[in-house]
Amino acid sequence: MLTHLEKLHRMALDLLFPARCLNCGREKGYICPDCMETLERLKPPVCPVCNLPIKNNRQCDCRYFKSLDGLISPFVYQGTIRQALIQFKYHNLRAIAPLLGSLLWECLSSRPVPSDILTPVPLHQKRLRWRGYNQSRLLVDHLSKLSGIPSTQSLLKIQNTPSQVDAKNTHARRTNVESAFMVAGADFFGKRVLVVDDVATTGATLDGCALALKKAGAITVRGLTLAREI
Ligand SMILES: [Zn+2]
Ligand SMILES: [Zn+2]
Repeated sequence: MLTHLEKLHRMALDLLFPARCLNCGREKGYICPDCMETLERLKPPVCPVCNLPIKNNRQCDCRYFKSLDGLISPFVYQGTIRQALIQFKYHNLRAIAPLLGSLLWECLSSRPVPSDILTPVPLHQKRLRWRGYNQSRLLVDHLSKLSGIPSTQSLLKIQNTPSQVDAKNTHARRTNVESAFMVAGADFFGKRVLVVDDVATTGATLDGCALALKKAGAITVRGLTLAREI
């Protein structure tokens, strides 16, 4: 966690030195307009359920979804977006959250998904203490402001599952997350829920969230992530 003094120091630095583009280094924001044009988007033809590009003979991971009704993501997890998300998640670059939130909003406005309430994929308490913030919650805060869709923090992570990156295969990823989440209260009852995260790989984490949300009365659960590993 940053101390108060460190936060002030960072704010002063941000004022003195405007954000440099993570890709080209110019002082035109964390992703400058030129580099923004070069980000690789998920383009049709994509799977109507999980948004993955359709390739010959490849079966989608979404055939394993038990509770998740759909997943959309604007970008492929590579290049500048990957850099941005690594800085955002592991190197305390919280200042990039408004930009990433606006990219999510751009995606949601161009492909409307019926949603009554937003929720971030939660972090386990231990990991939250260690990192100091939940990156997905920061995304949700900005998306909620831009879209006017309310958000809640009552989806909880109750098991500190190993990092999904370490889970070797799809089956391991799925059994990891099936009982990892729970809902406190009735915020999701009768609602169409949009679960927000930074990046999705197989969608297993989002599917685990969807299971808990549907047990708590959600009508539909869809995922929105900034990037997708393909
Ligand atoms: Zn640039
Ligand atoms: Zn699919």
